[in-house]
Amino acid sequence: MARFVFITGGVVSSLGKGLASAALGALLQARGFSVRLRKLDPYLNVDPGTMSPFEHGEVFVTDDGAETDLDLGHYERFTGVAARKTDSVSSGRIYSNVLEKERRGDYLGKTIQVIPHVTNEIKNFISIGEDEVDFMLCEIGGTVGDIEGLPFFEAIRQFAQEKERGQCIFMHLTLLPWIAASGELKTKPTQHSVKELRSIGLAPDVLVCRSDKPIPEKERAKIALFCNVRKEDVIAAPDLKSIYEAPLAYHREGLDQAVLDAFGISPAPKPNLARWEDVADRIFNAEGEVKVAIVGKYTQLEDAYKSIAEALTHGGMANRVRVKVEWIDAEIFEQGDPAPYLEGFHAILVPGGFGERGTEGKIRAAEFARTRKIPYLGICLGMQMAVIEAARNLIGVKDAGSEEFDHEAGHKRFTPVVYHLKEWVQGNHTVARKVSDDKGGTMRLGAYTANLAKGSKVAEVYGETVIEERHRHRYEVDIAYREKLEEKGLCFSGMSPDGRLPEIVEVTDHPWFIGVQFHPELKSKPFAPHPLFADFVRAAKEISRLV
Ligand code: GLN
Repeated sequence: MARFVFITGGVVSSLGKGLASAALGALLQARGFSVRLRKLDPYLNVDPGTMSPFEHGEVFVTDDGAETDLDLGHYERFTGVAARKTDSVSSGRIYSNVLEKERRGDYLGKTIQVIPHVTNEIKNFISIGEDEVDFMLCEIGGTVGDIEGLPFFEAIRQFAQEKERGQCIFMHLTLLPWIAASGELKTKPTQHSVKELRSIGLAPDVLVCRSDKPIPEKERAKIALFCNVRKEDVIAAPDLKSIYEAPLAYHREGLDQAVLDAFGISPAPKPNLARWEDVADRIFNAEGEVKVAIVGKYTQLEDAYKSIAEALTHGGMANRVRVKVEWIDAEIFEQGDPAPYLEGFHAILVPGGFGERGTEGKIRAAEFARTRKIPYLGICLGMQMAVIEAARNLIGVKDAGSEEFDHEAGHKRFTPVVYHLKEWVQGNHTVARKVSDDKGGTMRLGAYTANLAKGSKVAEVYGETVIEERHRHRYEVDIAYREKLEEKGLCFSGMSPDGRLPEIVEVTDHPWFIGVQFHPELKSKPFAPHPLFADFVRAAKEISRLV
C-alpha cells in the first residue's frame, strides 16, 4: 500500500516544484523506501511531443516510448527510477480518454461531467501501480488558482478522502518575496496561496518556501500560525549553486523528516546520504574546466537541451572537472567558416533537432571537429549531420542530405543519405508508419537494442556489446553507403539487431568522434554518469591539457 504525497505550487510558477519533488524522492530512497514520481499537467495538449521546445523545454522520452515533460527527467536523474508512460498525464489526455469512452458508449448514455467523470479518470491515473512502491509522489503542474488545474485539485482532494486516514499528505511550494525597502521577507502571498488551497478543500501538511534569504524565526512562526502547520513543517528552500545540492539542502532543512512526521512514521529510518555527499563533493571540488560548444538551433532556451546540459555536468563529475557549456547558434556559420566560432573549445556537441534550419552550420561543425581532431559527439540529428558531412567530403556524394529537408521543402534537392523510415522491428514485431499519420505518432520512440562491434571505440566506452538506448526520430542513416564510408574511416560500429539501422558511427582515425542515433543524455544520472558523456568529457579534458 503506497503512501501518496501530492505536491502543488502557489504564488508564482517556476519555483522548482519538480526539483523539490525529485529531491524528496531521493531523500525517501536514502531512508530505504521505494518511490515513484508522477506529473499531472493541467495544459490541454494531449502530450508534450508536439509542443515547441522554445515554449516548453525538452521533450523527455521514456523507455516505453512516451514523450513527456522535462520534469520526468529530473525525477529520473534524482531517483534513478526509469519513468514510464503512466507517470505523466495532461488535461488534454484525460479529457481525450473520457471523450473516447463516451463515444464508445462506456458511460451508457449518462451525462458526462467534470465531477465525477474527469476526476475519476484522474484518480485512476494516480493509482496505477500503487502497490509497487512505498511512496507515490504526484506533482500537479501550474499554480493553485489556475482554471485548468481545478479538476486535478478536486481529484486529489477526493482521492485523499477515499484512502485510509493518513495515507495521503499535501506539500505546497510558495515564494517568500524579499522587499528591500523594508528589509523583510513577506509571508502574505504564502498566506493567500494557502487560503486559496483551503477554499478548495486542501490543507497543506508541509510548506516549502522559496526565498533567497534564510527565514527568520518570527516569519516562520507567522506562516505556521496563519497557514495551520507546525513550525517544523515550514521548510526553507534557499537558492542553490547546483541543483544536485538539493537533496542535502532539503535534508538539512528537515523536509524528509517533516514528510515522515506527517505520515506518522516513527521512528523514521536513518538516511544514508553517501551518494549525495559524493555528488556534492564532485561538483564543488572539481579541478579545472573544459569548454564544450553545443551547436544547435534552440539555443535561446537552455531548457530545450536540459538533459544534455545535465549529462555533460555528470560527465564532468566523472572526471572531476567543471564543464563550461557555450550554446552556439548553427545558423551563424551556415555560409562561412566555423573556425572563428569553434576554435578554443575542447569538444563539440551537435544535439538532436528537427527541420532544416541551421543544418548546414551543423554539418560544418562536424567537418571542423573531424578535420581538426576535436572530440565530437553527435546526438540523433547530430549523427545524421556527421554522416552527411562524411558522404559529401569523404566519398564524393556532393549533394548528400536528409529526406527530412526535402519533405519540408516539398521538392527533391538532395541525395538522401538519411531517409524516412516507414517500417521497422521493435522487439519481435514490426511497426509500420505512413507519412500521413498523426505528427505525434510517426517516430521511432523509446528503448531499442543496439549491437556494438567488438573492438570498436563505443564497445570500449560502454564496456559491453549489447546496449539499450532511447530513441525519438523519424529518419535513419542509409546503410547503402556503409561500405564506402567505412573504407574512408567512418565506421558503423553500432547496429540494430536486424542489421538494418545504423545506431552508432565513429571515425577511427580520430581521438574521439562518435555519432549516436539515440539520446544517451536521457539515461545519465549524477551518481551514474552515462559512459558516453563520461568518456566524451575525458577526451575533452585530455585535449585541454595539451593546449
Ligand atoms: N529530425 C531527425 C529525425 O527525425 C532527428 C531527430 C532528433 O534529433 N531527435 O530523424
